[in-house]
Amino acid sequence: MTYQTVNPYTNEVVTEYPFAADSELQDALALGAQRYEEFKTQPIAERGALLHKVAAALREHADELAEICTVDMGKLVGESAGEVELCAIIADWFADHSEELLKSDSIETIATGEAEVRHHAVGVVMMVEPWNFPYYQIMRVFAPNYMVGNAMILKHAANTPTAAKRFCEIVEEAGVPKGTLTNLFLTYDQVTDAIADPRVQGVALTGSERGGKSVAEAAGKYLKKNTMELGGMDPFVVLGDANMEDVTNLAWRVRLYNCGQVCTSSKRFIVMDNVYDEFLDALKKNFAAVKPGDPLDPATTLAPMNTKRAKEKLQSQLDDAIAAGAKLAYQYPEIDSDGQFFRPAILTDIDTSNPAYKSEMFGPVAAVYRVHSEEEAVALANDNPYGLGGILFAGDPDRGSEVASRIETGMVYVNNFMASLPELPFGGVKLSGYGREMSRIGQLAFVNEQLIVKA
Ligand code: NAP
Repeated sequence: MTYQTVNPYTNEVVTEYPFAADSELQDALALGAQRYEEFKTQPIAERGALLHKVAAALREHADELAEICTVDMGKLVGESAGEVELCAIIADWFADHSEELLKSDSIETIATGEAEVRHHAVGVVMMVEPWNFPYYQIMRVFAPNYMVGNAMILKHAANTPTAAKRFCEIVEEAGVPKGTLTNLFLTYDQVTDAIADPRVQGVALTGSERGGKSVAEAAGKYLKKNTMELGGMDPFVVLGDANMEDVTNLAWRVRLYNCGQVCTSSKRFIVMDNVYDEFLDALKKNFAAVKPGDPLDPATTLAPMNTKRAKEKLQSQLDDAIAAGAKLAYQYPEIDSDGQFFRPAILTDIDTSNPAYKSEMFGPVAAVYRVHSEEEAVALANDNPYGLGGILFAGDPDRGSEVASRIETGMVYVNNFMASLPELPFGGVKLSGYGREMSRIGQLAFVNEQLIVKA
């Protein structure tokens, strides 16, 4: 494991970074603890003002950051720019709303006196983040926790080091004091050392089940509260009376956005019999219309995958699915490029014993299922180890939200795409993890909910 930017379109090794020295981790812990002490007495509005400055700085550097992201992990440059803007929106929102969100909650009590719960910072939060949204994943933890008064140490993915480094530099350049958010190129052992340290009082990981289990194990060993935002096999349920124009316009986008490398990408399309053929035909047509090319070119609509390894893993999952009886209903023609392109594919006829039925395919492969009733659709949606998000299309949105509440995931969007916004809690159940990020629920993940009872 090394920290390297390898452009997945050109395969060029752009930059390499050495691992952090243990002394750098110790310095970051000491400085983080110092910031936490200072934040205790700082008016929250001062941090809010600096967070607005961070939002402005991100917007100012949007082109530079978009290019870095695209070179690090291959995302279409327009999507990278959209991610930078989303980070600015999140920063502005927490800057504007945290004072209200963090107000004490008073409790009516039968005890004598007045009871209230205050929300205090706890110290340093260790963040472990993935490459697929290199900026947004940082901001989801940074903005709410900075407003609370926690400091953070960031271990980002090995393949997006430049994005991590530059983002944290810009946060500091905007005026957030050094040591509030420290990016370090840590080894796995150093992450465990940080978690073991008493100054670290929270651990936030977004990533795979494998990474999540290792980090959660360390957090458990040292009794550190943690949140786990893990993988997903989100269902996209189409009921028989859905508006098919809306459905077909969205289905291919939510599968191919970020080259299909999104935890909340719709990965299983569960479609009612009467609209199945129309759905499948439209999905094939839309997959066939994408244009692979340089992700830095705004005209490109199909990006390469983030690494050669990720592409090879997806290819072997596709091969295994077909060998186990799934039908390859469509695959994009050969792409003449040395970039890490994966030809978008559609699988049907996946039975319950097929490995594709239950394992997350993190790239541009859609699994389409035919169902004959709402009950069958819900049962299929729920017959899965993951429980992150989902989309459901229904003619009647009220009826749709009733069906949605029977789907065992942390989030379901009815007749709409899954927009991740600062005011909405983000997270899942089952193997998709636990805890929430963003919104008030996410902001209270790493606080001391201190009860004060006054006689
Ligand atoms: P991953 O391998 O688990 O990596 C995520 C982060 O964890 C990286 O920084 C990685 O570092 C680190 N890591 C892994 N094992 C570790 C260990 N033992 N100790 C310390 N750090 C460790 O995840 P990925 O496969 O790259 O990311 C894709 C996965 O993330 C997918 O399953 C996707 O669904 C999920 N995801 C979930 C959400 C969500 O919000 N629920 C959002 C985005 C992605 P290295 O890079 O150095 O290995």
